[in-house]
Amino acid sequence: NEKAYFRPTIATIDLQAIQQNVSNLKKYLKTDAEIIAVVKANAYGHGDVQVSEAAFRAGATMLAVATPEEALHIRTAIKEVPLLILGAVPQDFIPFASQNNITLTVFSAQWIVQASRDYGHLDSKVKVHMKIDSGMGRIGVREEAELIALQKVIVQSPIFELDGIFTHFATADEETSEYYEIQKSKFIQLVSSLDEKPRLVHAANTAASLVKDRVEFDAVRFGISMYGLSPSEFVETQLPFELNPALTLESELVHVKKIHKGEHVGYGAKFEAATDETWVGTLPIGYADGLLRGLEGQEVLVQGERVKIIGRICMDQTMVQLPREMAVGEKVVLIGKQNNNCIPMQEWADRLQTIVYEISCMLSSRITRVYK
Ligand code: PLP
Repeated sequence: NEKAYFRPTIATIDLQAIQQNVSNLKKYLKTDAEIIAVVKANAYGHGDVQVSEAAFRAGATMLAVATPEEALHIRTAIKEVPLLILGAVPQDFIPFASQNNITLTVFSAQWIVQASRDYGHLDSKVKVHMKIDSGMGRIGVREEAELIALQKVIVQSPIFELDGIFTHFATADEETSEYYEIQKSKFIQLVSSLDEKPRLVHAANTAASLVKDRVEFDAVRFGISMYGLSPSEFVETQLPFELNPALTLESELVHVKKIHKGEHVGYGAKFEAATDETWVGTLPIGYADGLLRGLEGQEVLVQGERVKIIGRICMDQTMVQLPREMAVGEKVVLIGKQNNNCIPMQEWADRLQTIVYEISCMLSSRITRVYK
């Protein structure tokens, strides 16, 4: 029995689209900077291993994740590829990082000294990238003296090997560049204070790679637009090449009925039929899948037409109002294209007053991912 799923609610991930986005970026870069594919949070909900492999086929050379668990999950499937954890890591992960060739982000000399004392003999050294907080205010060293002290203890440590240095921009996706320039100058100044520059200097995320003055250094960290999505409305207006959205969210009608004027649909009996010819379709998707209750009133595509979600969204099911009788089994697209119509992920983000990053991450693991 080959069938791996039964519920017809699936996210189809187009790996060709991901490859195209990566290779378009590669062509667009001014230098031969490396591309670090950012695949944290299960590749922004798209599937970490599959996306990583696609990104590599298109020319990425390194992967970045947020947590030790994410790194180990990818390492189980993909052995050789350089893999960086962007977030803070607890010291008890150090032996695992050593065994699995996982690169860590570090930003405290004291952390390095303590770890070198506690793990004096590892079979292979753990590579580290030093993180500079140039204005994001999250993690990282902020002062020159702190950075020089950090570099010194790494170089002296028997268990660590300095491989890179990086920072992260807080406003690269915005129209104004003032704060971005301050961060960039601070980063350049701190990097130049080191007597020896590490192998890989990197700063740019998607927005800084595509717009602004495109600071490439030795590598760029390509996240949101690898998935074919824009970091912000401003970047959307400035895109240097077309992005190919990789994810389509689909379901199908599992029940269709006609209700009469005055009859109700859903919790709270909130929706009331206005006519005797009200056709209602039920979809097997709900807020436990990431179709949040705040998306009530959002449209979906059936036979290429936009139809509205009616009544409250349930945990596992949702009702839509159909323009006419339709068959059970009719395909429904919630995000993506159907015929000549399209519902971009941004539409959900606008309705929920959030960003596309949050939408792609909130599509829960209950939705089967299918790759093409
Ligand atoms: N670098 C770091 C440190 C990040 O936290 C992120 C994502 O939030 C990225 C790069 C990728 O950013 P983007 O998805 O905007 O390209």
